[in-house]
Amino acid sequence: MTYLHTLTIPTPFPVGPVNCYLADGDEPTLIDTGTNDPAALAALREQLRSHGLALADIRRVVVTHAHLDHSGLAARIVAESGARVLSHERNRWWLTDFEREWERRYRFYAEVLRQSGAPPAFAEQLGPRLEWMKRLAASVPLASLTPIDDGDALVLGGETWRVVFAPGHASGLICLFEPHTRTLISSDHLLRDITSNPFLEPPARGESARPRALVQYIASMQKVARLNVRRALPAHGEPIDDVRALVDARLAFHRQRLEYIERQLDSGARTAFELCGILFPNLKPQDLLLGLSEVIGHLDILESEGRVRREESDGVARYAPFGKAR
Ligand SMILES: [Zn+2]
Ligand SMILES: [Zn+2]
Repeated sequence: MTYLHTLTIPTPFPVGPVNCYLADGDEPTLIDTGTNDPAALAALREQLRSHGLALADIRRVVVTHAHLDHSGLAARIVAESGARVLSHERNRWWLTDFEREWERRYRFYAEVLRQSGAPPAFAEQLGPRLEWMKRLAASVPLASLTPIDDGDALVLGGETWRVVFAPGHASGLICLFEPHTRTLISSDHLLRDITSNPFLEPPARGESARPRALVQYIASMQKVARLNVRRALPAHGEPIDDVRALVDARLAFHRQRLEYIERQLDSGARTAFELCGILFPNLKPQDLLLGLSEVIGHLDILESEGRVRREESDGVARYAPFGKAR
């Protein structure tokens, strides 16, 4: 696939660099951007230059999902190039009204910490960290956004790719699939060396329930498995050549983790924060939301299968085995 190039852009996050993909041709297209910071911008400019392009040459930016390492530089690229931004409808407000969307998420995560039973010190640490992260993205003009959805065609380097909506890791996540070579640009949906976190998100604007991220994620995994992918190009780490085996391994991992979490409730009801401490005893405070997303994702499934029940008192949720008293 001579028209598709991997650009490796540093991020300030523990996950390490993000793989952005450049499709050259008549309409140079960048898939994901890196965060809005000088190191990422310099790396992006330099790597584009090695393919004979400047930032101003980019015609389209595909944002696979509403996370900072994927969307952060979109505004900068649009400002310099006038590029169109293609992304799922679910990412509209994140992309075009970023500050407000970020504030909304901040309030949501503060509430998640409270309901999870995390000590107030954790909530106090959340503010400065989210304030720092807020600088890593900016809004693109609404007029530059073109929504794309499942099944839509996208021509890259003369080949027709299909949009594959795969919510879970993020509620608006899309992958891109090229059926002749069976290549999938898998974003954070499928990573070779780490499991994709089903990251908690607030309800979409106009909706009242938050997405059940892990429920969505598992359905999306099964959907991607049906594509019979030959090679996946992920947003972090190396390409994946044994997609089917990896999907099976991920599904088995989640089944085991469901059972493990269920067993932890045998001795009595627990909060998500307590379960997080059992599952990840060495978790750093700044990673608490990742840990809670993992735990709550599994509790959502256990609850929907009638295996646990959630009861709330004084604003804190506890989970107990279904049918057993506390
Ligand atoms: Zn992500
Ligand atoms: Zn990522």
